[in-house]
Amino acid sequence: MAGAVDITGGCFCGALRYRIDRVEQVANCHCSMCRRISGAPLVTWLVVSREAFTYTSGEPAHLQSSERGERDFCAACGTPIACRLIAQPDHVDVTLGSLDHPDCFTPALDVHRRSRLPWVPVADRRPPHR
Ligand SMILES: [Zn+2]
Ligand SMILES: [Zn+2]
Repeated sequence: MAGAVDITGGCFCGALRYRIDRVEQVANCHCSMCRRISGAPLVTWLVVSREAFTYTSGEPAHLQSSERGERDFCAACGTPIACRLIAQPDHVDVTLGSLDHPDCFTPALDVHRRSRLPWVPVADRRPPHR
């Protein structure tokens, strides 16, 4: 999915900046934790291998959001940046909304569809599986 252009992003205030070398998957998450933490009806995540994601400026604050994983956010402005799940030690999920050019990616998958708000459309055309 990545072209020759660098994939970069950061938080609202600019304290945190990051670079992504390659995106493997783009998914909408409808789970109630993502909804509450972001304040948005759903969160679109880029699935990235851990070695392909680097902070280039600043140090994130961490929140252990459940026993399943933790989230990185900016301590100054609160922007959610990343989520690391214990079950996926090789990958990190990065918020599409924090990209400099979020229009470069389109979600192909919806997860936690059972928690989806009924008025939120799905990108995923397959039958719901979870
Ligand atoms: Zn910030
Ligand atoms: Zn979620």
